[in-house]
Amino acid sequence: MPLMSADQYRESLKQRKPLKIYLLGEEIKDPTEQPIIKASINSVALTYELAQDPRYHDLMTATSALSGIEINRFCHLHQSTEDLQKKVQMLRLLGQKTGTCFQRCVGMDAMNAVFLTTFEIDKKHGTKYHDRFINYVKLVEENDWVIDGCMTDAKGDRGKHPSQQRDPDVFVHVVERKPDGVVIRGAKAHQTGAVNSHEHLLMPTLTMREDEKEFAICCAVPADAEGITYFYGRQSSDTRRLDATAEGSIDCGNPEYGGQECLIIFNDIFVPNDRIFMDGEIDFSNLLVEAFAGYHRQSYGGCKVGVGDVLIGAAAMIAEYNGVENASHIKEKITEMNHLNETLYACGMACSACGTRTGAGNYLIDLLLANVCKQNVTRFPFEIARLLQDIAGGLFVTCPSAKELANPETRKLVEKYLVGAEGTGAVNRIKMLRLIENLVLGRAAVGYLTESMHGAGSPQAQRIMINRLVNMDEKKRLARSLAKIDE
Ligand code: SF4
Ligand code: FE
Repeated sequence: MPLMSADQYRESLKQRKPLKIYLLGEEIKDPTEQPIIKASINSVALTYELAQDPRYHDLMTATSALSGIEINRFCHLHQSTEDLQKKVQMLRLLGQKTGTCFQRCVGMDAMNAVFLTTFEIDKKHGTKYHDRFINYVKLVEENDWVIDGCMTDAKGDRGKHPSQQRDPDVFVHVVERKPDGVVIRGAKAHQTGAVNSHEHLLMPTLTMREDEKEFAICCAVPADAEGITYFYGRQSSDTRRLDATAEGSIDCGNPEYGGQECLIIFNDIFVPNDRIFMDGEIDFSNLLVEAFAGYHRQSYGGCKVGVGDVLIGAAAMIAEYNGVENASHIKEKITEMNHLNETLYACGMACSACGTRTGAGNYLIDLLLANVCKQNVTRFPFEIARLLQDIAGGLFVTCPSAKELANPETRKLVEKYLVGAEGTGAVNRIKMLRLIENLVLGRAAVGYLTESMHGAGSPQAQRIMINRLVNMDEKKRLARSLAKIDE
């Protein structure tokens, strides 16, 4: 079923074998019915819904380079710089519509990175990973799966390499070899959309050394594989979703959509040979890490911009509700927010437009510009969020609970005293303030702020790449040449 509907996607999650998920001290039997998880499923479901909407067809779908069928763009291997740009535009669109992380990009980024890496491994080592991976991608496309790109290991002592850790399990590694596959053990942290996925595509998290071949493993395992445990991340204001009343949903700020991050424990999972795409080729772990990180750094030039659009819209709305939309400093601040947001978009589009064809045939973004994009993402959303808080005023953190609206007596007082500008009722004002709270302090701030800092690699990781990718010798030569220095 190359293009599933949102309902078919939800149903496909129910069809999995039961997952072992822990959330707030409880084992969750049906994640599709748990309110916190449900909101995160709604976000992923929108990637299916919009693909069937004629208005978004061009952005949300693509033609498979492997089979010629029409597929969801989230399953696509980019075939041109235009594809790379459409990816950024698609992520912006989804950021605008969900106001949060919609989780499906990590799989698309992992697939494109593994595709180009397996080609290079085979070329050097005469292995057969690339054809295997092509067969796997065909399955992903045909089934319209959500793939969870799993890179970040638990890591233990950050000052030590995998082979030096007291407990090697803090990095995913091979613990047993069998004729028909391997057994892996370890944990991956911060896994976006883990519980909402059909499959996990595991990749090593850093450059491995000669004695770390067991850690250089890239493979795919089903999300419902026996032996996987999920710890669902506790995030700010998440329990507001447990108040299911109509008023209670106001306090969620964004009642419909949420994101999801998990710690995944892989406890002795058997992986058959046809799902292994790297096994011990330490000389290629670096290429895989850089390609995946590069693609995901590009992604942020789309998704964070879409969520940024929501912040800017919220700033303009609350200014209107407060009756200050014509104040010159408010207009100036909103201009600045737009400038910062569009700069991020420009970075996402530029690294896409300057992408190049890889040996494997898919397209890779310009890595230097993708790293510049992400470096800006570690800063600009914080300034945009700061300006939004400035414009909103302090009420978004002091506002009475929506439960006060459920009681007619207290509601009367709230409505009387929290009324806004002419024509603005207190309830709409509160709804907008709660959305703002959600975006800058609450559940969506996880994706918009903390993930902007650390997702796809913390700021220092991009600075190392920027340093490595700029041609300093050429810059020095330019300066010498103009100064007429012969050396
Ligand atoms: Fe996609 Fe952005 Fe979420 Fe990453 S943070 S999965 S790019 S929406
Ligand atoms: Fe992310």
